[in-house]
Amino acid sequence: MADAATPTPPVSFAPTRRARLVPGRELYAGRPALSVQMEATATEVVRGARLCVESALGGVITMPSGRQPSLERLTETLTAFGAVTGDVSDTLVDANRYAGKKRISGPSSLDVAWVDAQLRNGQRYALTDSPYIPDGDFAALNSTLSQGRDMRRAVVVNLPISYLWLKNRARELREAINRAGVPVALTVEHASDSMGVQAVVRGLVHVLGAEPPVLLLRCDASAVVAIPYGAAGGAIGTKTSLRHLYPLPAPGAKGGGRPARVAVWVPRLLSYKSLEVVADVVQYPGIPQYLVCDCTSCDGLTLDRVTDEAQAYDHSLRALMEFATTRLGVERSPALQRLAFYEAGKSAQFAHMDIESSTGVPFEAPAFLGAWKVAYEELNA
Ligand SMILES: [Zn+2]
Repeated sequence: MADAATPTPPVSFAPTRRARLVPGRELYAGRPALSVQMEATATEVVRGARLCVESALGGVITMPSGRQPSLERLTETLTAFGAVTGDVSDTLVDANRYAGKKRISGPSSLDVAWVDAQLRNGQRYALTDSPYIPDGDFAALNSTLSQGRDMRRAVVVNLPISYLWLKNRARELREAINRAGVPVALTVEHASDSMGVQAVVRGLVHVLGAEPPVLLLRCDASAVVAIPYGAAGGAIGTKTSLRHLYPLPAPGAKGGGRPARVAVWVPRLLSYKSLEVVADVVQYPGIPQYLVCDCTSCDGLTLDRVTDEAQAYDHSLRALMEFATTRLGVERSPALQRLAFYEAGKSAQFAHMDIESSTGVPFEAPAFLGAWKVAYEELNA
């Protein structure tokens, strides 16, 4: 396979030894709260592994969608990752059977050999090869949870669910997780940003209060926000398709998902913006101040310096990690971290309004900022 034949570059970069954001409730002591979720191609694994070392992040490696990945492929991938990081203990491998046009949906057998192969390769926890769990499919939910529990191994049971579970059935979902008593990961399907829906964030906050540790995978900035609300970990995708789980297109509709425009994380706006939008608004007087980034890649430049996906990736993950450690703060209580995000979110919403009024360009703040703002206010009411 071409992937395995690609030589691993020598490890010639310096880890920053940055302080880690520690979740209030850890899967195990010392596990990084935040992970990079990357594709399992040779290039992406090496690039993701470097970022994990430099920024003290965990890794989630996602296999191609909708197929049962081979155990050989799993071992090759973890070997390539470990050649850079020297350690795969904080890594999870996502079989990704729940995504894409050929996805497995509804009750389905989990493969204990998939779990054992991850553990044998040195992971502290293995991620189950779960099916997609449609809204209200309690048979799929309970069978996935009970199979994971009955493996009696160090597993995180992946729960790739419709966002409607969080919107309408959060209480039942949390009870099912509590009954199973195993750590779980939520992968939430939605046509755009599930965390832009107020009722979904409210449901998520409820489910994060389950007794076993709950992680949030295949996500964006909401993976960071979820930590002080009780998540044991969160994974941020390197590209749009790994920051979301899109529903299948309606029968007869062409294509799936949405056109993948390259987007860049803008720290002062707390949101991803497409490169086109950044290039447009940066030309207006007074606007560049909102587009400055102080991450270790940008070093105070404005984000119109980013012109391709590779740069967007490198900057975005670093900047999000730095936001987590410096703005939320590693030494603070979860309550103070929630307040810090609440205040940062309000500033970002104001910045959007200011950009719109001073440029005339429609510039709406992303809905997840509003949804987390209300979640904070409800929790502190
Ligand atoms: Zn940057």
